Amino acid sequence: KIYYDSDADLSLLKDKTIVFLGFGNQGAAQAQNLRDSGIPNEKIIVANRDDHYAADAKSKGFNVEHDYSKAAEVADVVFLLIPDQVQPRVFNEHFSSRLKDSATIVVASGYNVFYELLQFKPSQDVVMVAPRMIGSSVRSLYVKGKGFPCFVSVEQNGTGNGMPITLALSRAIGATKTGAIASSVREETAMDLFAEQALWPNIIMLFREAYSVLKEAGCSDEALVYEMWMSKEPAEIFEAAAEEGFIQQLKHHSSVSQFGQLSGALKLDGSNIRAHFKEILYNQVLNGKFQKEFSKIEEDLEKEGDANPLNQLYTKSEESELGQGEKRVRARLGLS
Ligand code: NDP
Repeated sequence: KIYYDSDADLSLLKDKTIVFLGFGNQGAAQAQNLRDSGIPNEKIIVANRDDHYAADAKSKGFNVEHDYSKAAEVADVVFLLIPDQVQPRVFNEHFSSRLKDSATIVVASGYNVFYELLQFKPSQDVVMVAPRMIGSSVRSLYVKGKGFPCFVSVEQNGTGNGMPITLALSRAIGATKTGAIASSVREETAMDLFAEQALWPNIIMLFREAYSVLKEAGCSDEALVYEMWMSKEPAEIFEAAAEEGFIQQLKHHSSVSQFGQLSGALKLDGSNIRAHFKEILYNQVLNGKFQKEFSKIEEDLEKEGDANPLNQLYTKSEESELGQGEKRVRARLGLS
């Protein structure tokens, strides 16, 4: 089901105090959109520590509350727009016990609700309004009078009024202009984490191995880097896929290319990769195995140098022929 502006009643937000926890990518965009949709500034509070995000919110005219507890006590609606790995710590400590029994809690990603990491009262509404766009696009499309793709769902309908409120909030941030798609935290989490842990790792692996095989056959780093991604050809292909269709965009390519791509893909046996994909989806994502492993390292992501597991993964990935080759080419071109 797809919901449009005509399905949403903004007057349901009248008199509600709306708290944005976080003023980063999504927080800054959604708070500004909501205010520009006619929600009075005095009914909007940005809850943020006293630093540059808070200063940004103040410079844009928002009321900023540094004390999370005070913001929690007055909130009728709270948008959780701080990084996913931080949300349980901040929400459970400062918001859970203080929020009103009838509060609406809005997440922009399914992760913490699907893995049951946040503590809610049964009387509260827990809803998802998850833009499929980075924050700057959420804002710029709204300013241009356009919508953006967004997933919506009601995960806990404590007040019995969860969906009308979700649609009103979605409309206020500009998400029902081109249609908000009914989804669930399970679907959003499954698709997001599957793409991150199955689809894209395989794409990275394919590029890495392709680079190595072609290098071995005598192709230069310069030619390979440009041919494979720096020319932006892959970006243009995906752009055309979004505009004209995943298969139909192939018609822009030469006959040699079309024949090679279509017949080559049909000849490949997908059964091995299918088994691998299912393993990741069911035994890593949906069963919570990844979430448990990630929770053990998430605090280390704030550390510097090798103590940060992400830095170690970057170092290891850059040791590949692709990583080394690209470094040489970028250095020669004076690019960082
Ligand atoms: P950001 O990384 O931009 O969040 C920054 C905000 O979080 C700032 O207000 C920052 O304030 C606050 N913050 C960061 N660390 C902490 C901390 N330890 N304690 C308290 N506050 C903290 O987040 P995003 O906007 O990227 O993501 C927010 C939500 O939106 C997530 O659920 C994400 O999955 C979802 N989402 C994000 C998209 C994107 O484009 N990035 C797309 C769609 C959904 P300060 O550090 O000053 O306290």
